[in-house]
Amino acid sequence: MVIQKLWSAKIQFLKGVGPANAAKLAKLGILTVGQLLEHYPRRYEDRSNHKLIAELTDGQYETFRAVIINIGELKSHRGLKIVKVTVRDQSGVAQLTWFNQSYIKNKYKPGMELIISGKVQRRLQAIEINKPDIELAAEFNADSGQIIPVYPTTENTPQWQLRALTRQAVELLQTSPAPEEDSLPAEIVSGHNLMNRQQALTTIHFPKNMQTLTEARRRLVFEELYLLQCGLAYLKQKNKYRCRGIKHAPDAQLIAKIESNLPFSLTSDQTQTLCEIKADMEDTTPMQRLLQGDVGSGKTVVAAIALAKTVENGYQGAMMAPTEILAEQHYHTLAKLLAPHGIKLAVLTGKLTRKSRDQLLGHIKDGGIDIVVGTHALIQDDVEFKHLGLVVTDEQHRFGVQQRARLEAKGGQPDVLVMTATPIPRTMALTVYGDLDVSIIRELPPGRQPIATYSRGSERRARVYAFAVDQIKAGRQVYIVCPLVEESEKVEAQSAVNIHEELSSTFFKNYHCGLLHGKMKPQEKDAVMAAFSCGEIKALIATTVIEVGVNVPNATVMIIEGADRFGLAQLHQLRGRVGRGVHKSYCVLLSDSTNEETVERLRVMTEINDGFILAEKDLVLRGPGQFFGTAQHGMPDLKIADIIRDTDILLEARRAAQQTVCSPEYLERVWKTLKSWFGDKFSMVFCR
Ligand code: ADP
Ligand code: MG
Repeated sequence: MVIQKLWSAKIQFLKGVGPANAAKLAKLGILTVGQLLEHYPRRYEDRSNHKLIAELTDGQYETFRAVIINIGELKSHRGLKIVKVTVRDQSGVAQLTWFNQSYIKNKYKPGMELIISGKVQRRLQAIEINKPDIELAAEFNADSGQIIPVYPTTENTPQWQLRALTRQAVELLQTSPAPEEDSLPAEIVSGHNLMNRQQALTTIHFPKNMQTLTEARRRLVFEELYLLQCGLAYLKQKNKYRCRGIKHAPDAQLIAKIESNLPFSLTSDQTQTLCEIKADMEDTTPMQRLLQGDVGSGKTVVAAIALAKTVENGYQGAMMAPTEILAEQHYHTLAKLLAPHGIKLAVLTGKLTRKSRDQLLGHIKDGGIDIVVGTHALIQDDVEFKHLGLVVTDEQHRFGVQQRARLEAKGGQPDVLVMTATPIPRTMALTVYGDLDVSIIRELPPGRQPIATYSRGSERRARVYAFAVDQIKAGRQVYIVCPLVEESEKVEAQSAVNIHEELSSTFFKNYHCGLLHGKMKPQEKDAVMAAFSCGEIKALIATTVIEVGVNVPNATVMIIEGADRFGLAQLHQLRGRVGRGVHKSYCVLLSDSTNEETVERLRVMTEINDGFILAEKDLVLRGPGQFFGTAQHGMPDLKIADIIRDTDILLEARRAAQQTVCSPEYLERVWKTLKSWFGDKFSMVFCR
């Protein structure tokens, strides 16, 4: 059997897998032999230093070798069936127990030698191990090594079964005729001192020693990251050589006028970023740039000038925001900066009447409108531009890559600027946004004071609210964010309603309290936001719908109920709603959690104001999966690479990938593997 065929063979191809087992394996995402081989161990157990029974420590996870002397089954008074297997070595006797697993007693016979791993319970007279992991010593010859893989699995598929099946697959892999080609070009394999693929796959499951295991892992991590980086580098290159985009002219009078009339002078990061954007726009290659900047760092004005530049060149600009509130806010900001200079702007959201929408679409099509700001409404099929030159998307991680692509498709290779306020750690950016150029605004506009942040238990709730009332008395406004309920927007909304009811009849009974949640109609939400914006509402009780971008400079207090439910990045986003004006601002994190990691997370928030540092911490504390919902960015999950641990390999693989895509001959060879590896998951990106 050729390797490719074995790889894609149904898992039933293996001996011992019938429909029942196949269904259980499917729960683990294993449908084919290849998927089994890529179901990598979660950790390993080094059984090379076995203990004697007499040396086993209570409460520890230990491994020892012993012979079965007796197998029995008894019934507990509650009707549980208990299998008890007694084993012995030269130092003593131990008892292995299983509840309601009668089949165990038929699996083993007295006289068999076992290798036993499990948590030790030392009782007065006996040593007991409940539900141990068992390996037959006979199957455990010198050849199979002493380092045992431990797989991620469920109750239904025990470790021993996964090990046995994987061993079978690995043996088939070894006896199959060598594949014609490694998945990587030979020069890459030798140039980077990599183990060959077959050997690496065998070793990752059944390593002979720790050193070869490290080598095998390095090979597989490299392969994964290299191929991903090839894909990304290819996209970038394709963009560069194949597409001829719009060549904007150097700045002329309009830009000069707008820039000299700004209400403030740009920070040096803003200036630098703007230079990078303008250079991209003046080039024939379509711009594909990511603009990262913490909340309040002043991305909007940068986008405004870029949009004005495309207008100066006779094109139209579009800006897409994830919510209506944000779209309107951006529209107002842009209009204030640009409309006085004769630029015509419009906002397109879902709430326009049919008639005014049709009218607006007409103006967008005939070029009567220069800049359109909008929500998803912008990417509907009937929205046509006369000549789209620049597309800006704000808070892009909320849009799928596909949505972004649909807006871009409305123009002939428009320049693209993607803005995000979620600072992305560098390693993450290289994997997720590897096809984009990156500009960063790190410094905040001058005069910003750090937001004083406190973490408090609910016993201090009354004092926290009293403080908020003092701020309202001083003329300020307050946000109260309700606990996050990820599973249900409905429950979350209900909790907001309850908290609103409570607070508006107690602490804030003398003040106008507003309520904002995801189950409200867009008009209702807008009315509440407008009332808060103009200062009529003093305390706004809200769910995370306020997370994104809302700008009310007079708000100085952010109280987050159930702060333990949020990740660092999200807390930071919420906190960014205050501290936007001249007044000193505060953020209070209410939580009763005693969980060590949570307490640490909240403590980090009180000490660090820099979103980039928080993002790095968040990534370390919660792992990449949590940091970014995978579905959102449309990139494949990494099977083995860990972008925190494997930064060095990532950088090496990235350099190699960049060289590869520059050589057509190399690219040709990687291309097939690329498509077969990532094709389905990656197609969204590849078809751009
Ligand atoms: P972001 O979109 O990055 O969260 P905004 O563009 O909304 O940030 O800017 C936040 C606030 O800072 C706005 O009120 C804006 O007018 C102001 N601002 C932006 N740049 C500067 C600057 N260079 N100097 C002073 N204020 C600025
Ligand atoms: Mg913004």
